Amino acid sequence: MAGMEYHLLEINLTTGEKQVHDVSSEMRKFLGGRGMGAKMMWDKVPVGADPLSPENILFFGLGPLTGFLGSVVNVSAKSPLTGRPGTSNMNGHLGIELIYAGYNGGLLLTGKASKPSYIYIKDGAVEIRDASHLWGRYNLSSQQMLRKELRKELDDQNFRVASIGPAGEHFVHNAGISHDFYHHAARMGMGAVMGSKNIKAIAVRGTHPPAHPDPIRLIELLTRFFHEGRLKKAQDRRWGHNISIARRYYNTTEGIKNKQAGWDPICDKTNSLILEQQYKVWNDGCNLCHIGCKVPSMRRDPPLGPTLAELRHDNVGGWDANVMLPGFDVQLYLTSFLDELGLDNEDVSGVVAWMMECYQRGLITQEDLEGIDLTWGNLSAICDLVKKIAYREGIGNILANGLKIAPSQMGRGTEKYAMTGKGVAITSYEPRGSIQEAIDLAVVPVGELHGARGGPRWMACDALTTCGFLIRPLHQVFGWDNFAIQFLRPATGWDLSPEDWKDMVRRIQFMERCNCIREGYVPTRDDVLPDRFFEETIYNKYGEPKILNRDDFLALREKTYLSFELTPQGIPPRDLLRKLDMDFVIPAMEKQIGTW
Ligand code: SF4
Repeated sequence: MAGMEYHLLEINLTTGEKQVHDVSSEMRKFLGGRGMGAKMMWDKVPVGADPLSPENILFFGLGPLTGFLGSVVNVSAKSPLTGRPGTSNMNGHLGIELIYAGYNGGLLLTGKASKPSYIYIKDGAVEIRDASHLWGRYNLSSQQMLRKELRKELDDQNFRVASIGPAGEHFVHNAGISHDFYHHAARMGMGAVMGSKNIKAIAVRGTHPPAHPDPIRLIELLTRFFHEGRLKKAQDRRWGHNISIARRYYNTTEGIKNKQAGWDPICDKTNSLILEQQYKVWNDGCNLCHIGCKVPSMRRDPPLGPTLAELRHDNVGGWDANVMLPGFDVQLYLTSFLDELGLDNEDVSGVVAWMMECYQRGLITQEDLEGIDLTWGNLSAICDLVKKIAYREGIGNILANGLKIAPSQMGRGTEKYAMTGKGVAITSYEPRGSIQEAIDLAVVPVGELHGARGGPRWMACDALTTCGFLIRPLHQVFGWDNFAIQFLRPATGWDLSPEDWKDMVRRIQFMERCNCIREGYVPTRDDVLPDRFFEETIYNKYGEPKILNRDDFLALREKTYLSFELTPQGIPPRDLLRKLDMDFVIPAMEKQIGTW
């Protein structure tokens, strides 16, 4: 069976040069998405580079399964939020358009455009176009305006657009990239990197489907998965991912008042049946996904309506009891407000919760906040503060730097209440309810992304660009190793043995870890959580105490490193690096951590 070829489109924004590279052998080693992104950063971003300088890259990574099991685009760049390598997933349809345009190896942006621009891609036609009329606009109106223009020009209604909002233009460290209303590469400041390159939007349309080596087998596998994995569909289609919040409050794994409490009556106001009956508009899904977990919801009535947003756990969890806001009306309003501004709801809600606690404790005053009365649950105060962050006005200029930098700039003892380890906000998650989740959060090399994203399985899925929500049903139907090998053979033509697959997963995982280590990450120093989780007891709804024990945490952390095939210190072993043809990382690693 002939193997697939993979082609990467590189655009140098400084010179305007466009090149298409054959990256087939690189894909065979690092798979794509997050794996290729880590390798790309290693090769192209100098150590110590400013994430907002032209030296940084912005890579829209695809993988061999993009479009079959979700249509993830994994965005990689050095993150302004953490100052280290960053990664963020965006589902939807952009990835499949890039593949149909001929760029199944992804899109790489380097350098910086001389003025506000957007990227236009229609199959082989690639242009850097003027975007001065879009600059300053909110996300949705930018996307609508651009689509309208392109439709007029080409009579083609099917362009897919990704854009940044004002927050990305102002280099806010937790600004995201949005695509088609409710798909976002929200995490780790990828929108700020796009803004720093003077790119407002990317519009893509592809019309040539790729020729996979064995499409019949692919259809057989997908048919089996759609049938046998339908149980997950039943639940997610109905309620989306909002449903997990209520369960998590009862498990004490969802944060309350910036993690000051284990229960509050406000928690019972989150009820997905109410969301379904009173707010849900329709169901939608990403390319070819049978689950369709996107559940947009609408509030029609004033004073907060009409407003429309997608309420998932990730974006709305932070705007719930963690800032003491009850009910879906306010969460819809806030979520759509931040989506339009181009901010990561999850990270910014962590920053706001931190400020609210500092205000409660008198460490920050109304004068510091330029008149904002930032009491718990005060919606208009939150909106005022968020707007200051998005435009870097007044105190917003400090808060826009996120939780790695802002606490030390603010000082006055506020640092203690910032719920982060490496700079990513631990927003709605409450680690004291589950030591396993506490570890899952702590051991992600790039920062505290939720959902066990530091583990080899997640990293491999982010490289394959399969949707993380499909991991469990895929595992149930095919088994973990089997799923990847079975799908990869007909999709790529690669003849993979189980050991080949194991090596690929190791390579992806190690590449990201080594990349972070080269930029100063020391796992045993950095894979920690704030002291609050080890020193302050909280109580669940039934009065049971919840606290983390530091010795148990450290013991489980070491066990987790070993289960990831790392040393007890969380470093990829040298012999395995050699086996994987990754000797090239060793000198730079030695420079950082000495001999290991
Ligand atoms: S499970 Fe949901 S997010 Fe994932 S691909 Fe399907 S519709 Fe998209």
